[in-house]
Amino acid sequence: MTSIAWIGLGNMGSRMSAHLVSAGHDVRGYDVVDALRDGAASHGITPVASVGEAVDGADVVILSLPKGEHVRAVLAGEDGVFAHAAANTLILDTSTVDLETSAWCHSEASARGFRFVDSPVSGGIQGAEAATLAFMLGGAEADVAAAKEIVAPMAGNVLAVGEPTHGIAAKLVNNMMLGVSILAMSEGAQLAKELGLDAQSFFDVARVSSGDSWALRTWYPVPGVVPGAAANHNFDASFSAMLCHKDVTLAVDGAEAAGVHVPAATLIRDQLQRLLDDGFGGKDCTLVIRETSRDGSVDGWDGR
Ligand code: NAD
Repeated sequence: MTSIAWIGLGNMGSRMSAHLVSAGHDVRGYDVVDALRDGAASHGITPVASVGEAVDGADVVILSLPKGEHVRAVLAGEDGVFAHAAANTLILDTSTVDLETSAWCHSEASARGFRFVDSPVSGGIQGAEAATLAFMLGGAEADVAAAKEIVAPMAGNVLAVGEPTHGIAAKLVNNMMLGVSILAMSEGAQLAKELGLDAQSFFDVARVSSGDSWALRTWYPVPGVVPGAAANHNFDASFSAMLCHKDVTLAVDGAEAAGVHVPAATLIRDQLQRLLDDGFGGKDCTLVIRETSRDGSVDGWDGR
């Protein structure tokens, strides 16, 4: 049994931490939202009133926080992890953050005698619930090996990607590619419609041809074609425009810093931004098909 501190009990953290309890670990959980701490208690997590209380005596600290700024504050704040954790504690960040924050986490943790592994995840809320997430681990070899064992009860796949920040880099590049796939799929689906093709017939062609992609197979943005797609449910989110925009933006920022041109990713970022500007950030990211529509109407969407 390992003593684990879990910081951030939101959509992902509440579900992921519950699997660690099921695996027999002692998990103390903290979130700034009282109701989420109470909710976590019903999954066997011991709710505590501060980060300091959570990490006191813990062998492992795991973060699941919205953005880089939250991660930095939770680690280096007055009542933070660095101030309260024991030397050599293993710290895993499962949040999706910018590359600079991840590099900062590694250097600041290591300067204080902690072990840090960037540990972002893919698979969404469903993957968190079903313990089928893909974990992408970046860090020193021995720390990644230790992290692998800890994350196993929450994972379908655990990938040791490489050095510090390589886990988050892989996550951002992957999600950038997903964004570009959504762009291609949306334009294809709309053009097929305008050319008079039946949606199912075109999907059947693309599915076994060179236009195929994970996005197409899973999220085809026309109602009645792919059972789990948001298009069948008024574009209620499975992966929200807001989260997709966040990930693509972080990837585009990383590309700019690296001097890499990513025009397609920049375009989908801007399309997602327009959804956010119009108040549809909570809707599914595949609602970007709206951008291809002559009058802004989208099959399967009530426009609200
Ligand atoms: P969320 O907003 O539901 O959860 C984050 C939690 O962190 C919230 O409950 C918030 O109250 C808490 N928090 C914020 N500041 C805090 C602090 N100082 N101390 C303690 N708790 C604090 O977000 P989520 O959907 O659970 O995502 C968490 C992370 O995982 C994000 O970085 C996200 O990008 C990433 N992610 C999400 C998904 C997804 O589908 N939701 C998939 C993969 C990765």
